[in-house]
Amino acid sequence: MQRYDIAIIGSGPAGLSAAINAKIRNKNIIIFGYEDFSSKLIKAPKINNYLGFHGISGLELKEKFKEHIEAMNIEITYERVNNIYAMGEYFSIMVNETIYEAKSVVVATGIEYTKPLKGEEEFLGKGVGYCATCDAPLYRNKIVTVIGYNKEAEEEANYVSELASKLYYIPMYKSNYELRDGIEIVQDKPMDIIGKDRVEKLILSSRQLETDGLFILKDSISPAQLVPGLLMEEGHIKVDRTMKTNIEGCFAAGDCIGRPYQYIKASGEGLIAALSAVSYVDSKRI
Ligand SMILES: Cc1cc2nc3c(=O)[nH]c(=O)nc-3n(C[C@H](O)[C@H](O)[C@H](O)COP(=O)(O)OP(=O)(O)OC[C@H]3O[C@@H](n4cnc5c(N)ncnc54)[C@H](O)[C@@H]3O)c2cc1C
Repeated sequence: MQRYDIAIIGSGPAGLSAAINAKIRNKNIIIFGYEDFSSKLIKAPKINNYLGFHGISGLELKEKFKEHIEAMNIEITYERVNNIYAMGEYFSIMVNETIYEAKSVVVATGIEYTKPLKGEEEFLGKGVGYCATCDAPLYRNKIVTVIGYNKEAEEEANYVSELASKLYYIPMYKSNYELRDGIEIVQDKPMDIIGKDRVEKLILSSRQLETDGLFILKDSISPAQLVPGLLMEEGHIKVDRTMKTNIEGCFAAGDCIGRPYQYIKASGEGLIAALSAVSYVDSKRI
């Protein structure tokens, strides 16, 4: 299996900046993310604090980023990373059925503004999950509920519905939902997850759903879930000035390491994280 020098998780300004700087230093990289790069980027109506681009819209800035990475032959792998395991000399990066290997990792996954639901953390692994396609076989002929925060969640819901006996889809956004026949769309606000040893019910503001499984599909999951053993501090990944985390070879940049949440800060940190990863890989001669 090909072992990359640096795997970058996230395609926002932090991840893209890490990618271009690692590429300039001739490293063999892989970057995971989405076609739109970052939902936070394309949503910004007007940006006045990104040096050199006064008054640009988020969509225009995204096009500039796209031209930049294309000019440097950087291709984004459009996959969501589920877990990253530190194996000592290298990292195993789990993406559904595929495992990638890299000598170092830059976590640039942004931050979720939404708070976890009541019961979410308590029932994690006991009916609550963040990757529907990974865990779908556990719910063959069972009732499953998917709370989807983005369009990609529809694809996961469609897949799970092929196995589940019943699938409820709760969209947390407005769109034309492309869902298979038989999936019940529930337009309601999730409030609470209840059960004894496992999830039994999802309480919504105006009804209750009996469910065996509950998938909460957001743009990003907590970094501590993504990388077991990663040290957090007040909801952010703890790093030093070189963007080093507590795990050797693992670096982090952008909103996921702390405030202020801004593009140019994220890009700058992406640069530092990439250079630190380059030094790490070179020093190890691995
Ligand atoms: C409406 C709005 C307006 C804003 N306006 C401004 C502004 O004017 N000026 C300014 O400086 N800042 C602004 N911001 C803040 C700015 O968007 C963020 O600070 C910036 O996007 C952070 O960059 P990032 O790379 O750290 O994370 P993000 O941009 O959030 O990118 C992280 C990416 O990683 C992906 N990802 C997460 N987990 C995984 C995984 N497991 N596998 C694969 N990919 C994953 C995410 O889906 C996302 O695409 C605004 C934000 C919003 C929401």
